[in-house]
Amino acid sequence: MKSLTKKDLFIEGHWVPTEKRFAVTNPATGETISEVADADAELTERAINVAEQAFSSWSKTPTQERVKLLRKWYQAMMDNQQALAEIMSAEQGKPVAEAAGEIAYGASFVDWFAGEAERINGDILPHTEAGKRVMVMKQPIGVCAAITPWNFPNAMITRKVAPALAAGCTIVVKPPQLTPLSALAIAQLASEVGIPDGVINIVPSTDAKTVGKILAESPKVRKLSFTGSTDVGKVLMSQCASNVKKISLELGGNAPFLVFDDADLDEAVEQLIACKFRNAGQTCISANRVLVQASVADKFIEKLKPAISKLKLGVGTDDVDLGPLVNQDAVDKVNRLVKSAVDNGAEVVLGGKVDSDLGELFYQPTLLTGVTGEMEISEEEIFGPVVAVSTFDDEQQGIERANDTPFGLASYFCSRSVDRIFRVSEALEYGMVGINAGGISHAFNPFGGVKESGIGREGSKYGIDEYLEIKTVTLGGL
Ligand code: ADP
Repeated sequence: MKSLTKKDLFIEGHWVPTEKRFAVTNPATGETISEVADADAELTERAINVAEQAFSSWSKTPTQERVKLLRKWYQAMMDNQQALAEIMSAEQGKPVAEAAGEIAYGASFVDWFAGEAERINGDILPHTEAGKRVMVMKQPIGVCAAITPWNFPNAMITRKVAPALAAGCTIVVKPPQLTPLSALAIAQLASEVGIPDGVINIVPSTDAKTVGKILAESPKVRKLSFTGSTDVGKVLMSQCASNVKKISLELGGNAPFLVFDDADLDEAVEQLIACKFRNAGQTCISANRVLVQASVADKFIEKLKPAISKLKLGVGTDDVDLGPLVNQDAVDKVNRLVKSAVDNGAEVVLGGKVDSDLGELFYQPTLLTGVTGEMEISEEEIFGPVVAVSTFDDEQQGIERANDTPFGLASYFCSRSVDRIFRVSEALEYGMVGINAGGISHAFNPFGGVKESGIGREGSKYGIDEYLEIKTVTLGGL
């Protein structure tokens, strides 16, 4: 077994160095972990050409063969779970145990889509005319591109690469500048288990704009899947329009977490903690606005305080609940949002600042009360360990407040009344609703948003459709 710490581009099964390189640092210590190769326009084009060549054979490889390779890749990730988790924790900051959880979650997409590859069935339609038959074929769309974020350095890649490969597509991945090592490590495993050269290509780059534009505008790339900010998603969508490329976008969220007066408050606290503090709040489905019915607000906050106080902040290699934020920009954003909320009347009940004994990126688990819908903290994704609580009077107002955003990714609410559960889950304008549940992600579940949170679904039986085209074949003269 070769080392999983790779630092060159991965093109056509080869490790390709570049003269220009960029540093990847550990957010807990500020130390440089590695100097990674930096793809430019020419190398990106090369990766696309290689993926195009590989497509002609991979798309014709018998399904059982592709399934076998995907299952081996899954197994290789699980066999190396600890090593992959340590690489991830070092470049991203999340605790090693949490990173190991992400490796299992990321690998589960490979396992799931290996299964889905076996179920890509077409149709023969009912006769509509004598002497004519109509078939529906499902075919791999072609060369795909994936552009991924740093908050889930493994799973955001497998969630795109696994269905692409299962469908018979090849892919070029541009991983995030902050966390390319996790991407390169799983490419090494793909190569070791025998996934053919050129099927997966990885091009880390500091020039996301150029690489992204090439991937979006190349007519050789037939599908682009992006997870990241809404602003970049809009740019990519307009670039993809130039060649009417199929696109999946998983963009920003502004998740409401509603606590109704009939909720089990202990359960609500437990689920909110799980939802909010995973990855130190740096997920697009983290509860962003905690909306509590006024009649139970004091009681809820009394229960929430000790649960937040108990959380342990520290270096990811120690036994902690949350690690540092990913970089100074992330800390600056959280500081700005908290300060602006306080300036406008919110109260800091817990935390509210960096724990400088630990280091400049360690933001304390924070509880703010007295937040209102007009504050910036209610309008922007916090992406940090801050619970911002506001109140509402009745169910209708709670729903209106929850939907009062251009985003529509995840939403959550806590209630024990069956009629309310149906009413509210139908009324929430979101792609996902967690009811008495702060964890909603699984390879079996469709993941995606409505409104400005995106287009398309990842995971689940629907996820593979994003990488397939439907062809209608009409046969006459019978
Ligand atoms: P985040 O806030 O998660 O960093 P971004 O949308 O900035 O969200 O980044 C997500 C991914 O998009 C990263 O891989 C980043 O390098 C890439 N990216 C950033 N800007 C662009 C762009 N203009 N075109 C294409 N990709 C981009």
